[in-house]
Formats: sequence, structure tokens, C-alpha cells
Amino acid sequence: MPVLDVQNLRTYYYTLRGPVKAVEDISFQVEKGEALGLAGESGCGKTTAALSILKILPKGGKIIGGKILFNGQDIAKFNENDMRKKIRWKGMSIVFQGAMNALNPVYKVGDQISETILVHEPKTSKKETKERTEKLLEFVGIDQSRADNYPHEFSGGMRQRALIAMAVACNPDLLIADEPGTALDVIVQAQVLKMMKEMKSKLNLGMILITHDLSIIAETCENCAIMYAGKIVENGDVLRIFKEPLHPYTQGLIKAFPSIKSAKTEMTSISGFPPDLLKPPPGCRFHPRCPYAMDVCKKEDPKTIEAAKEYYVACHLVEQQMK
Ligand code: SF4
Repeated sequence: MPVLDVQNLRTYYYTLRGPVKAVEDISFQVEKGEALGLAGESGCGKTTAALSILKILPKGGKIIGGKILFNGQDIAKFNENDMRKKIRWKGMSIVFQGAMNALNPVYKVGDQISETILVHEPKTSKKETKERTEKLLEFVGIDQSRADNYPHEFSGGMRQRALIAMAVACNPDLLIADEPGTALDVIVQAQVLKMMKEMKSKLNLGMILITHDLSIIAETCENCAIMYAGKIVENGDVLRIFKEPLHPYTQGLIKAFPSIKSAKTEMTSISGFPPDLLKPPPGCRFHPRCPYAMDVCKKEDPKTIEAAKEYYVACHLVEQQMK
């Protein structure tokens, strides 16, 4: 059983101008010990999908349909009390974008990790809390002697690691990381990602990595879901997506990304802009930008089909080619 099985999730933001259809009918799964990369341009719904899973949407945001099966239980139906007591931190946790500044500057880093343990597992003894905190710090590559340091005494990469330690302090089954590499230089970013990769296998942790940086996904994830304008357009094995992308949007994203291996390939960007999700275009949401758009694309929303084993695409062209 996957640790997370999202089925036909829909999340809208209700604004004075009408509902913003930020996440529209998305489905994906995350297995234990594996990472799913959620990629796409800014505003495509990646972060909204994560906030929906944890049910921490900002004001105006509402899950209006679908299931969120976490270890087989539909948590979309859970109330705030259930989410707080049973799911967040103990079941799943999140490390936010730019989270390096999320540590409290006036408390020692070790105390902040210990507090996370004590808030969610109040029966833990002082001795055990201290031992777990030190172990967590070591686990993320920080010497336990640094537990008594304040956040300003840590580098950016260390603060990011400390936050990841805090996120896994109560042994969750799923960790969501939203742009974990943002604000870190490339070398530190690579170290943090390597550490997360090791953590995933050692703790048998399911992971969702949200990023617009495809190289991070290629390096860290087993599976990848590409989002465009609130929808998942392609989803499957990461190597296959990068090698033989089927959806025109994925092909465009990959062409727009620099490759070290094929240095001579010209980088081309996708023309046009993502649609306004207050009024997304009818049919395929990508059709105004798609070089292969056909009449049917302007009228009918493409169904998601299984183009290969456990490999899913939503595109009329791919569907026609498969017939
Ligand atoms: Fe392009 Fe049509 Fe496929 Fe959309 S459904 S990506 S418009 S070919």
C-alpha cells in the first residue's frame, strides 16, 4: 500500500473575483522509501497540492473534491483536531520554501528540536528527548555538540538541515519538502539533497519534493509528476520522463533546461504564459501554448491515460498515437 494515494484532488481558492481553480483533479501516489518530484512553473499548483495534503491551506482555500489516502485512511475527511493530533508531524511533515529563517533566533537549535518532540510526544522523558535530539542532529550531519548553538551560529545549509531534523523528529512516514534548495549555494544544496536521499532510504520515508528545478528531481527522486495550470499532465518513472517525455509541455520544460551532457543543444523556452486560473482555457489548459494543438484540444479536456506501465499522460495527441 502506498503511504500516500491522492485521488482526483481539487482545491480552489475563493476570491472576490471568483474561484481560482488552483488544483484540478490530480492523482498520484507516493511509496515508502521513495521520492516523488512535483515539478512545473511557478503558480502551477505544486505548493497548493502540498498544503491540501496537510490541510493547512491559507484563508479562502478549500478542498472541494477527491480523496487523500494516507496509509489507507482518507484524511480529506479529517477535521482540524484529527489532523493536529494524528497526522501532522507524527504522520507527515513539511519543510517550507526559504525555511532557513523559520528557526526561532532566541532559542538554541537543540532546544527547538527537543520542543518538537515534547509537544507531540509529551510522555517522552527528558533523557530520551536529549538523546533523540542529538541523534537527529548527527543524522543530518551536524555534530551533536552544536545542539547548544543559536541559529545565527549555523550556516544556511546547517539551518536547513536542522529544520529537516525537526521535521523528522516524530518519525513521520511522509516528508514534503517545498523548494528545499532555494537560497542555498549549489554545493550546499547538493549536500542537503544527498542527505535527504540517504534519509529517505534509511528511515523508509516517503517524500514529495516540490521544485521547479528539474535537475534536483533527476538527482533525488524515483518518480516525477509534471504539473501545468493545476493539473498533472505527465507522471511516472523519473528516468523515462527525462529521456522520453511524451507530453508537449514536459518536452518544452526539458528543452528549456540546460543539460551538461549535451552542451551543444540549444535551449528553447516555451512561448506564451500560463493561464489565469480564475478562467482557465477550455479543453486542454496547455492548448494556447502547444505547438501540436488540434481542434479537439480546444474543446475537450484530455483524459489521463496509462501510456506505459505505471506511466500516465493527459494529452489528446499521445492518446491518438497510442491507438
Ligand atoms: Fe497539446 Fe492537445 Fe496534447 Fe494539450 S492535448 S498538450 S494542446 S496536443
